[in-house]
Amino acid sequence: MDLVEQFVASLRNVLDSDQGPYGLHEPVFRGREWGYVKDCLDRRWVSSVGGYVDQFEDRLAALAKTPGAVATVNGTAALHTSLLLAGVSPGDEILLPALTFVGTANAVVYCGAVPHFVDSEEVSLGVDVDKLSEYLCNITEWENKKLINRLTGRRIRALIVVHVFGHPVAMQEIHALCQEYGIKLIEDAAQALGSYYKGHHAGTLSDVAVLSFNGNKILTTGGGGAILSQDTLLLERARKLTTTARTIIDGEFCHEEVGYNYRMPNINAALGCAQLEQLNEYLSVKRRLAEAYADAFRPVDGVRFLLEPDYAKSNYWLNAVIVATSHRAMRSVLVQEAESAGFQCRPAWRLLHRLPMYADCPRMDLSCAEELQPRIINIPSSATLLK
Ligand SMILES: *Cc1c(COP(=O)(O)O)cnc(C)c1O
Repeated sequence: MDLVEQFVASLRNVLDSDQGPYGLHEPVFRGREWGYVKDCLDRRWVSSVGGYVDQFEDRLAALAKTPGAVATVNGTAALHTSLLLAGVSPGDEILLPALTFVGTANAVVYCGAVPHFVDSEEVSLGVDVDKLSEYLCNITEWENKKLINRLTGRRIRALIVVHVFGHPVAMQEIHALCQEYGIKLIEDAAQALGSYYKGHHAGTLSDVAVLSFNGNKILTTGGGGAILSQDTLLLERARKLTTTARTIIDGEFCHEEVGYNYRMPNINAALGCAQLEQLNEYLSVKRRLAEAYADAFRPVDGVRFLLEPDYAKSNYWLNAVIVATSHRAMRSVLVQEAESAGFQCRPAWRLLHRLPMYADCPRMDLSCAEELQPRIINIPSSATLLK
């Protein structure tokens, strides 16, 4: 069999081809979603009043072991808020991987800051900390205790790391690097609910982190996101900033700064509460699915199934295979043939510096991301799959 046949046969091996076609990632509503949403409608508590938002936040915090969580309208709004909480100001430079969803960079621009793209490594597909360390050593200098990019003269304020497809990056090393350079560490854990780095839930080893509950994520609220932090004051500030910076003075609503209407509505949180009750089940199905894929692809020369890094327990949100460099030209045929056999597959995101609005942003040598991106294929990963 040639690689294309082997690739499709491996998918067929894991998924029951009679049950197809299989989407890449579909939401599952098999729990109390209907009851909780109906409850919102019955009580007419659909928007900012009602108990589901509090409940959802409390359960997220309990899961992640943080002192709290702040639910937002989506993950991008959570990222925008997190950057503001980290003190990001107009003109700052923010380091982030080129291999991520566009929302990560967009949030930087919403703050008037400039994305600065860094390279990824092959194990987690996340930020390559050794390469970044060497790079920062070469391009930065200190000025009045501020870290400055000598090439642009701008202040480097923060690093955003992304747990790509749910696989945690090497947090300990990254945390140490950020300490050394005095920059804030933000985790874009949008894809990583239920993933753990050495026993710590994703989003808990940084200054501030975000989750997303968009329709394609492991758990959905329709649209939604959340901010996590170990810092209670920061969480309080997040709550205020996402609630139009509202305070009550002498019984009157008052706003002392420009805030945002970023709070998650109750009806979305109701969906989220029901979904969270099923998270463990989703995680175990996804783990079994990943194991089945790993077995099916092991004998196939020419593709590598992406496994969790050995320091992590991944949620296996979106499964991926990486085509061998020698077969890289075959990616589009593999995707097409899998699709015609009823298995929806997708190439990874275009690298951000290849998008028109980010083409002129500062960036380091991105050879690993450039080498990886054209070889990544995401394969069907819904929590309903498995023969
Ligand atoms: C989904 C996602 C976001 C944005 O979340 P939304 O809820 O869609 O706004 C940000 N970053 C990454 C890596 C994502 O996967």
